Amino acid sequence: MYETSYHRAGSVADAVALMGKAEDGKFLSGGQTLLPTMKQRLAAPSDLVDLAKIAEMKGICEEGGAIAIGAATTHAEVASSDLVKQKIPGLASLAGGIGDPAVRHMGTMGGSISNNDPAADYPSALVALNATVTTSKRTLSAEEFFTGLFETALDEDEVVVSVSFPVAEKSAYAKYPNPASRYAMAGVFVAKQSDGSVRVAVTGAGQEGVFRATDMEAALSGNFSTDAVAGISVGADNLLSDIHGSSAYRANLVTVMAKRAVQAAG
Ligand SMILES: Cc1cc2nc3c(=O)[nH]c(=O)nc-3n(C[C@H](O)[C@H](O)[C@H](O)COP(=O)(O)OP(=O)(O)OC[C@H]3O[C@@H](n4cnc5c(N)ncnc54)[C@H](O)[C@@H]3O)c2cc1C
Repeated sequence: MYETSYHRAGSVADAVALMGKAEDGKFLSGGQTLLPTMKQRLAAPSDLVDLAKIAEMKGICEEGGAIAIGAATTHAEVASSDLVKQKIPGLASLAGGIGDPAVRHMGTMGGSISNNDPAADYPSALVALNATVTTSKRTLSAEEFFTGLFETALDEDEVVVSVSFPVAEKSAYAKYPNPASRYAMAGVFVAKQSDGSVRVAVTGAGQEGVFRATDMEAALSGNFSTDAVAGISVGADNLLSDIHGSSAYRANLVTVMAKRAVQAAG
């Protein structure tokens, strides 16, 4: 690791101000991605601005018809929250399936979505549930926030503060995990609203990161059953192909995971 200066921010405003003074700074949350990257010398920030102890970025609460989750909330806290389990069970089970216990107790929602790894689980939940991301500057829809592979709409000095998830009538997530890392080779989040509309978001498979499976959404909006998606393929053309699996293999996984998610949603 290169030499770096560590700062613990006490508030969101403090974090933004500290970043403004840094030559080439990075926000630090759970450190599960950033610290290994620094150890491998793939990143060498002059300053680390730690967000983990900022009270306004922690916790889970119900606001109107939505569940608001602070960006510094860990995956383990989301997975074990009675409120999330009751209102958006698919989100709780998604968080409980991230990595291993050490990753879940350190890694945070804000860190995960800011990193926007194409195989990360949370982006599918944000897009399927039509979540809103609140930052230190603005609010963005999930689809505005995720802009491509490891890319988001965030500016260098912009902090994700919280994410608000509208409560769905039914929700579930199914993923086929990479056996070594537990990251998704294909993960599908299905959310059905009380008006019958359905959103389906896919992670782990797309060349540009998370995407919506609109053919599946249309089929499920008319008939919320595994049969409705069984014959639908997302097509392999824009899917990832690597040593873990070809694009055709991932296309098949997406259909299988979509069926499992619909079945789990009930
Ligand atoms: C062994 C292992 C297995 C894993 N398996 C999975 C898995 O199965 N599924 C999965 O989804 N993930 C998995 N992960 C990733 C894990 O979920 C991490 O939580 C995630 O990569 C980053 O979150 P973090 O809080 O650790 O962020 P950090 O590593 O601290 O930061 C990541 C990036 O986000 C930026 N950042 C952090 N917080 C904010 C914020 N609030 N606002 C703006 N920018 C911010 C940082 O500057 C940095 O660029 C795994 C990681 C490991 C090490």
